[in-house]
Amino acid sequence: MLLTDLLALPFFEDRHRDLAARLFDWASRHVPGLVDHHDVDGSCRRLVAALGQAGWLDACVPPNGETLVPLDVRALCVSRATLAYVDGLADFAFAMQGLGSGGISLFGTPEQRAAACPSVREGRAIAAFALSEPDAGSDVAAMSTTAQRVEGGWRLDGLKTWISNGGIADHYVVFARTGEAPGAKGLSAFFVEADSPGLSVTERIEVIAPHPLATLRFEQCFVPDACLLGAAGEGFKVAMTTLDIFRPSVGAAALGFARRALDEALQRATARKMFGGVLADLQLTQAKLADMALDVETSALLVYRAAWTRDVQQRRITKEAAMAKLHATEAAQRVIDAAVQLFGGLGVASGNIVEQLYRDVRALRIYEGASEVQKLIIARQLLAERRERG
Ligand SMILES: Cc1cc2nc3c(=O)[nH]c(=O)nc-3n(C[C@H](O)[C@H](O)[C@H](O)COP(=O)(O)OP(=O)(O)OC[C@H]3O[C@@H](n4cnc5c(N)ncnc54)[C@H](O)[C@@H]3O)c2cc1C
Repeated sequence: MLLTDLLALPFFEDRHRDLAARLFDWASRHVPGLVDHHDVDGSCRRLVAALGQAGWLDACVPPNGETLVPLDVRALCVSRATLAYVDGLADFAFAMQGLGSGGISLFGTPEQRAAACPSVREGRAIAAFALSEPDAGSDVAAMSTTAQRVEGGWRLDGLKTWISNGGIADHYVVFARTGEAPGAKGLSAFFVEADSPGLSVTERIEVIAPHPLATLRFEQCFVPDACLLGAAGEGFKVAMTTLDIFRPSVGAAALGFARRALDEALQRATARKMFGGVLADLQLTQAKLADMALDVETSALLVYRAAWTRDVQQRRITKEAAMAKLHATEAAQRVIDAAVQLFGGLGVASGNIVEQLYRDVRALRIYEGASEVQKLIIARQLLAERRERG
């Protein structure tokens, strides 16, 4: 399905259609010259600067001193689907600016917002979100990094891992245990400059779809009082509210990857000669293409339904966002796998577009809440709705 067909859905307004068309045109012309997949740090720096200068980061970071809500979630999702279609690293660079500054723009004071957000929005600073730890991934409440009150601020000690933009970020939103209550209620969020004494990058992590990713160590790292985001003890809320807003956009990125894979598969299937015709003449191929299209279009409906609900009905979208993320990421994996199959040997050849997509899509089913976690969220919401109805 063409992007223009998806954007004709009643979920959108003309400004979203215009955004998608302009961003696609810009990304097609500029992104290939900015990305070198063998130099992800340099690529991400160039991408962030270019996205900021061209004004595309306006869709994920609010202007000077303003809060993230109301954020145009449809604009965020359209941007991610468009960038992911063109290049996974471009989508990554875009999304992390929003996720990495979300805690500041949502819970920061006007001074904190004004100090941090404009440079992130303009692509002059790189942002990151440091929640996960070696022993606390899905189980966020098991976090063991601590922040102890000291004169004038806090002292952070512990390890954070799987931190996207780790090593190239200018600042991090870091979550640590401050102990107001046991478990999730005893966490707080902090804005931490990357050059803070006591903060170091201990390891760069290599993954199948390379991007800047690192483990951070905090050793008696002093953070001034002015860097606490929200109230002490509110860290879990800061993390979950940020993730709630960005979750449907992970589905949007998956949708972008899946659309690209379907387009590439259609092109290949109609060009590849075999058995006296082309691959697309075979009914088993047609069945595969039909399944792929169904997966793409159901993902689009769920992702854009979640974004529309948030924007237009202005209510929490916990269930809708979880459904969008779960379905779109799982479906994109199936679509891309089918595309690899249709390409035959070429599908697994390094550097082929579907091989790249195959690696790009995998982590989306794990981060920002693994698929199993999304299922639990959906079921809990269903049961709560049932209880409310009595
Ligand atoms: C590429 C990448 C980028 C990332 N970027 C960031 C980042 O920028 N900042 C950050 O803080 N973190 C980041 N993460 C970390 C990510 O959020 C965690 O990997 C994720 O939360 C899962 O945690 P874990 O890896 O410790 O897996 P675990 O928590 O050990 O979970 C392993 C598996 O257990 C299963 N599982 C989990 N819960 C349940 C359940 N309730 N029932 C049944 N099965 C379950 C799931 O299949 C899950 O994948 C990133 C991860 C990756 C891979």
